Amino acid sequence: MKIIKVPEKEQCMKHSSDVSKGANIEATTYEFICGLCQVENENLEHLFFSCSYSQEIWKQVLLSLGVNRTVLPWHEEVQIAEKKSRSTQKQACKYSIAFIESVYCIWLQRNAKVFRDHVDPVKTVVSNIMFNVECRCKGFLWKNVFVDFDSSEFSS
Ligand SMILES: [Zn+2]
Repeated sequence: MKIIKVPEKEQCMKHSSDVSKGANIEATTYEFICGLCQVENENLEHLFFSCSYSQEIWKQVLLSLGVNRTVLPWHEEVQIAEKKSRSTQKQACKYSIAFIESVYCIWLQRNAKVFRDHVDPVKTVVSNIMFNVECRCKGFLWKNVFVDFDSSEFSS
């Protein structure tokens, strides 16, 4: 197996140019260096939430939600978020939205680092995530108010 490590800014360019040239990418295993920490190999497990940067973001988001625990491997975090997303409780709603927002913001930060060589401080990212969580949860609560209003309790 041939392993190619590509420097940060050339990561996506290298891959896309090989694809456009019709290179046999099945014969080659690409191993990208993490766009965020630039130390470990970049893969799903690492980027969300084993990377030191993303781990700190998720840890701070959890603390903002009142959850004080260590960050778990990706598949375990997904299982917890999936379970919370089925709940109708406000706190569970906030948790599942925070998970989605965190993943999205980590991906944006990763792209910003790769393409613009810039990442926001963890505190800024967490603040943005929690702001979005609050905005989206307000929508969730309004939706429940309308559901309650439409129920037989109010219509009879
Ligand atoms: Zn990393």
